[in-house]
Amino acid sequence: MADDVPLADDPLDTPVQYVRGCGPRRAALLAKLDILTVRDLLFLLPRDVLDLSVAASVEELNADTIHTVRGVVVDVDARPTRNGRTLVKAVVETNSGMVRASFFNQPWMRKKLPPGQRVMLTGKPKRYDGAWEFSSPQVQSLEGEPDGAAGGIEPRYALTEGVNQRGLNMLATRAVEGFGHYICDPLPKAFRDQHGLPHLRDAAANLHAAQTLEDFNAARDRVLFDDLFEFQLGVALRRRLWRSGGSADPLPVSAKIDARIRRLFPFEFTDGQNQAVKEIAADLASEIAMHRLLQADVGAGKTVVALYAMLTAVAHGRQAVLMAPTEVLANQHWATVQHALAHSRVERRLLTGRLTAKKRKDLRARIKSGAVQLIVGTQALIQKGVEIPRLGVAVVDEQHKFGVAQRAAFSAGDRDPHVLVMTATPIPRSLALTQFGDLDVTTVRDLPPGRQPVVTSRVPGPKARQKTWHFIREKLDEGRQLYVICPKVGSADEADAESDELSASVEATYKELVEGELKGYAVGLVHGRMDADKKDAAMNAFKTGETRVLVSTTVVEVGVDVPNATLMVIQKAESFGLSQLHQLRGRVARGSRRGYCFLYTDQTSPAATERLGVLERTTDGFEIAEADFAQRGPGHVLGTRQSGKSALRVADPQRDRDLLETARRRAFHLVETAQFDEPDWAMVKAEVLDRFGEVLELAKTG
Ligand code: ADP
Ligand code: MG
Repeated sequence: MADDVPLADDPLDTPVQYVRGCGPRRAALLAKLDILTVRDLLFLLPRDVLDLSVAASVEELNADTIHTVRGVVVDVDARPTRNGRTLVKAVVETNSGMVRASFFNQPWMRKKLPPGQRVMLTGKPKRYDGAWEFSSPQVQSLEGEPDGAAGGIEPRYALTEGVNQRGLNMLATRAVEGFGHYICDPLPKAFRDQHGLPHLRDAAANLHAAQTLEDFNAARDRVLFDDLFEFQLGVALRRRLWRSGGSADPLPVSAKIDARIRRLFPFEFTDGQNQAVKEIAADLASEIAMHRLLQADVGAGKTVVALYAMLTAVAHGRQAVLMAPTEVLANQHWATVQHALAHSRVERRLLTGRLTAKKRKDLRARIKSGAVQLIVGTQALIQKGVEIPRLGVAVVDEQHKFGVAQRAAFSAGDRDPHVLVMTATPIPRSLALTQFGDLDVTTVRDLPPGRQPVVTSRVPGPKARQKTWHFIREKLDEGRQLYVICPKVGSADEADAESDELSASVEATYKELVEGELKGYAVGLVHGRMDADKKDAAMNAFKTGETRVLVSTTVVEVGVDVPNATLMVIQKAESFGLSQLHQLRGRVARGSRRGYCFLYTDQTSPAATERLGVLERTTDGFEIAEADFAQRGPGHVLGTRQSGKSALRVADPQRDRDLLETARRRAFHLVETAQFDEPDWAMVKAEVLDRFGEVLELAKTG
C-alpha cells in the first residue's frame, strides 16, 4: 500500500478508491453497486460461480458420460434439415483439440455462438467421423469473464454499466492482497474449529479466487452464516432479556377457571384450540412473562383462544386487553367478546380513537382505577395516558401491522404482562425465525367442524366474467350477499362502461356495477378514505342485509363476519399477494353455506395463471404463504415492507434456510449457556448490539 493512503480506524473502512488499480473514477462506478469501502469489496458475494475446474481435456472424453469442455468457437453454420427444421453446427477449439456441437431445431444458437466466442459446453459427447460431437449440449458463455486459464472457480458478480466481471474480480483480488491481513476474525478460534468454519481472511480470499468449488462454498457459507448468526444472537439476547427477572405474575388456570371459561362457548374447542390453550396455560402459570405467537388460518377460532387467556387474567383479579390494528377489527373482536360474555358480569369496554375526548378521559380513569377488567381496542390503547395498572394479559392481533416496538409497549409497569401475539397470516418457518424469532410459536392447523372450503375460480377476460355475473345474480336472488373487492380507491371518473377492461378503482367499479351487471340490486360502498361514520353505516347496512352487495377496498380483509355473505369477486386479482387473497376469501367461509370466490383478471400469461392457480388448488394457508413468500418475498406476505429480511445484509432466510436453522441453534445455545457472555465473544457481541441493539431494543442488555 502507498504511504498516502488515509487509513481509517479500521483499515477495512478505507474508501474503496484506495484499492490498488481502483481510483476515484472506478470507485464512483462501484458505489452504484453499494461497494463503498474495502470491506464491501472484500466480502462482495458473487451471485454465482463457474466451475472451470471440471472442464475435461479432449483425451479424457468418453461416450455416454456427461462432460464439460471449454474453448473458443472457430466456426458455426446453420442448415435446413429435410423436414424443414434447422440444424446449427459449431466447431469449438479447446486447449487439447477440436470438438463439435450440434443443435437441432434451435436456430437461435447460431447467433449465440459467433466465431471467437469463449464457451463452456456440457453434455454427453459421441464419436462421429473421428471427432467428438456434443448433441444439444448446455452452453455457458464465458464472454467478459476473467481468463480462468488455470481452471479453478470463476466468480460472477452482479454488475453495473462500466464494470465487467474481469475488472471487478481483479479489484476484489487486489483488495484481498492489500488489505486481507487486516481482517481479524470475530469468531473465537475454538468455535470455528468445532464447526469447521474457515477463517474470515481465507473466506474473503476464496470468494474471489477459490481453486475448488468446495473452497468457494465454504467461503460463501461463512459470510452468510455470520449474517444470520449475528441476527439470531440478537434475537436470542432479546428473548433472554424478557425472560429474565421473573417479573410477571403467575396466573395458573385451575380446573374451575377452565370450566367456567369453556362454559361460555356453545361449542367444543377443536383439537388445535385445546392444544393452544394448553400451551398458553403453561405459560401463564409461570412467572416468566408469556411471549407467544398464535398463528392460525382465517376462521380457525383465534379469538376464542385469546379470550381464554384474557379471562384467566380476569379470574385472577387482573386486567386484560386485546389490541387490534384497525377500528373494524376492534369492533369485530368486541362483538365476539360481547357475545361470549352476554351473561357474565365481567366489566368490559371498547376503547378506540373514535371516542369523544371526554368519554375517553372517563374511560381512562376507570381503567386506571382497575374497575374495567377487559378492554378491547385499537392503538389508542397504547397511546400515552392510558394506564392499565393491573394488566395481566395483553393480546395483540395481527402484530406485524404494528411493528415490533409496539409489542413491548405494554411492559411499561413493574410487572410484565403475559403477551399473546395473533396472526391469521400463516408464516413460513424461515420467516417466523427472523420476524418473530424471539417468540414461542403455537400453530393451530384445524378448523371448527362443518366448514366447507371456498370454491375459488380464476375468471379471465370479459366473456368469462359475463357468465360469472349471471351465476352471481342467481345466488343473490336466492338471498345470498356479495363482496366486490378492489385494489384501490381511485375515483368514479375512471368508470368506463364501454371498456372491457377491469377497473382497479373501488369508486369506478361501484359506478360501473350499479349501472351495469348489478342494476336494480342494493349496493353499498366502503373504503378507507370515507369518514368513519359513513364507513360504519355502510358496513352495518351490509351486515343487516339492507344492502346485498358491498363494493369495497381491502378494509374487509380481516375480521368482518357476515355469515350470509357467501360470494366474493376480486377485481384485478393479480394485484394482490396470494396470502392476502387467501385472507380475503376467508370472509366468505364463515357460515355453513358454501362460499365462492371469483378472481377477476385480464392477465392470461402462463406465469399469471400459475400464480393465481395456487389459490384454486389449495385452501391451506400455510402452503399459500410458502408460495407467496417464494414468489414475492417476506414483506409482501406480511403486508408490509418492513421485514425480517431487511435486517439481514446478504443472507436470504428462504434461500438460506438450512444455514438459518444452524445459525439459530448455535446462537441460542451460546446465549442460553451464557458462553456468549465470556470475553472471547466480546467482539461478536459488540457487533450484534451495533447492528440490532436498536431494532430489537436490547439497550438493557449488558
Ligand atoms: P379467527 O379469529 O381465527 O379468524 P374466530 O375466532 O373469529 O376465528 O372464529 C371464527 C368463527 O368460528 C366464530 O364465529 C367463532 O364463534 C367460531 N368458532 C370458533 N371456535 C369454534 C369451535 N371450536 N367450534 C365451532 N365454532 C367455532
Ligand atoms: Mg377473529
